[in-house]
Order: sequence, then C-alpha cells, then structure tokens
Amino acid sequence: LMYGIPNMKLDKNEVVLRRIRLLEQEGVKFVVNTEVGKNYPARQLLKDFHAVVLATGATKPRDLKVPGRDLPGVHFAMEFLTANTKALLDGQEYRLAADKDVVVIGGGDTGTDCVGTSLRQGCRSITQLEILPKPPLERAPNNPWPEWPKIYRMDYGQEEAAAKFGADPRQYLVTAKRFLGDGQVTGVEIVNVEWTKAGPQPVPGTERTLPAQLVLLAMGFLGPEETVLKDLRVEQDERTNIKAEYGRFTTNIRGVFAAGDCRRGQSLVVWAINEGRACAREVDRYLMGQTVQP
Ligand SMILES: Cc1cc2nc3c(=O)[nH]c(=O)nc-3n(C[C@H](O)[C@H](O)[C@H](O)COP(=O)(O)OP(=O)(O)OC[C@H]3O[C@@H](n4cnc5c(N)ncnc54)[C@H](O)[C@@H]3O)c2cc1C
Repeated sequence: LMYGIPNMKLDKNEVVLRRIRLLEQEGVKFVVNTEVGKNYPARQLLKDFHAVVLATGATKPRDLKVPGRDLPGVHFAMEFLTANTKALLDGQEYRLAADKDVVVIGGGDTGTDCVGTSLRQGCRSITQLEILPKPPLERAPNNPWPEWPKIYRMDYGQEEAAAKFGADPRQYLVTAKRFLGDGQVTGVEIVNVEWTKAGPQPVPGTERTLPAQLVLLAMGFLGPEETVLKDLRVEQDERTNIKAEYGRFTTNIRGVFAAGDCRRGQSLVVWAINEGRACAREVDRYLMGQTVQP
C-alpha cells in the first residue's frame, strides 16, 4: 500500500500517514525497520503477545524464466515502483526509465502503474505486453448484466501513453521469448501466442524484436512470502495463501490470525480494510470472550 501504489493514485502524506498518525494517537505502537523472520524471530511473537495478526500482503511476484532474464535492466515491477515512491517521499530523484524504451510485461493494474510511472520519469517509448486476447468492445453473450462487464477499456496509464505517443501502448496475445543484450538488456524478442487447452502456445514465424533498455515484469503475484509462515508452521491453502476462514480469520495456530492479501491473495484496498476491521473484532472476541465491535 505504502510503496507499491504510486503516489498519483494514493497520496501517502494526505491519506496513509494521516491514518497512521491517528492510529498512533489511539495507542497503536508501530515498530518499524523490523522484518519478522529476519531481524525478529517469528516464533518470538508467540511468546511476546497474546494474539498475532498476520497481514503481510501477497508480494511474491510471478517470474518469467526465459533466456536473458538475469540481464541488468530486467526488473520486477515492485522493485521499480517501490524505489520510485521511496525516492519521491525522501525528496530524491529516481528516473530509471528516463530516455529509455520501456517494455512492461503484464496488462493488469500493476503494469498500468509501471506505464504511468515510466511516463512521469520521461521514457522514450512505452510498450505493454498482454498474453490474453483484447477484450470485446461490447459484453460477450457469456458475460451478461449484472456481472462486471469484461470489455475493452483504457486505464489512466494507457490514456496518458496515448496522449503522449498517439496510441494505446498494449499489444495483446503476445509474450516475451527472450531478453536480448550483452551485459545490459537492449531488446525483447516477442512472439504471438494462440490459446489452446494446454495454455498459450507460441505461433511460429511471428517472432519480432522490440528495443528495450528497461523491462518491467508485472505478471501478477503468487501469494505471500513464506518465511514467517514456515517459521510459525501456519497452514497454507492450495494457492499458498494463509488458510484462515473469512469471518473468523483464525489459522491452525491458536492465537494467530490472518487478514488481507496474505489470506485472500493479491486484491484491493477496500478488502484489506474490510478484513482488517473484521479480524480486529475476532481478536477482541478471542481475548475477551465476547466483543462489542461491529
Ligand atoms: C502496484 C500495485 C498497485 C495497486 N493499486 C491498487 C489500487 O489502485 N487500488 C486498490 O484498491 N488496490 C491496489 N493494489 C492492491 C493493494 O495495494 C492491496 O490489496 C492492499 O495493500 C493489501 O493490504 P494488506 O494490508 O493485506 O497488505 P500490504 O498493503 O501489502 O501490507 C503488507 C505490509 O506488511 C509488511 N510486511 C510484510 N512482511 C513482513 C515481515 N516479515 N515483517 C514485517 N512486516 C512485513 C509490508 O512491509 C507491508 O507494510 C495495488 C497493489 C500493487 C502491488
């Protein structure tokens, strides 16, 4: 929330820090620069506290293990977005994308934030690759009202890219085959894909190269980081999220609760707020035997 979501979408001073200050005034103690599982043993939590809520987010990124992945200039989206927000909040300059041809791999919200941030840093060009087909302009027959309409739309990043460079930066039904370069990424070899029952298959003969001195991988998140969960022996579900029923939020370890993205998978702020509040109620019930929390 604090470093991943770019400032143009969520003002950290006006919204996040204001809320943190209110919580501090209510008596909540924030211990910063402490990574549980690294410089504070996870099992120590069980000795120091009567109840523990795990709310560590779902930050394990999906990787793209193709040749050239280790070339300098190929980054996970969150490395780029976090460094950008941190520099902004510290009053420093961070312009990794400046004057570069940028390729963003992933057509979701995180990819869009990479597009918007690269534009603000002054990139030379921007391309966003999406492995799925371009959505239809109108609802498909199997997507009737009142379902959420799965139709083509432009988010702020694509609108800004179109305003600057003249077109939506997305290419659909395409994936990266390899990253090119010698000591530094200079391009991405891409190929069209065709969806079959076995998943996306490359279409031979459609390979082409995009210039790229910066590549950002934004292909979704695979679940929570697991160090703390393993240390505490907390059970995970089949998607590797923490196994805890919505509404109760209890894990298999007595006194340990889970809420937010680490429980439901990468989601939205409204759900994190909803789960945080409801989980606080359940912790109150656990500690007091009853609760007056809504
Ligand atoms: C790039 C990006 C853009 C997004 N844009 C939007 C948007 O526009 N709208 C929207 O609704 N949602 C958006 N989201 C999703 C939203 O950020 C999350 O759903 C929400 O922040 C989840 O809240 P959370 O409290 O569960 O986890 P997080 O906000 O991820 O918080 C987890 C916290 O736990 C800390 N932590 C993790 N491990 C440890 C540890 N071992 N020890 C100590 N601390 C630890 C982390 O540092 C972090 O502060 C976006 C996400 C990303 C990545």
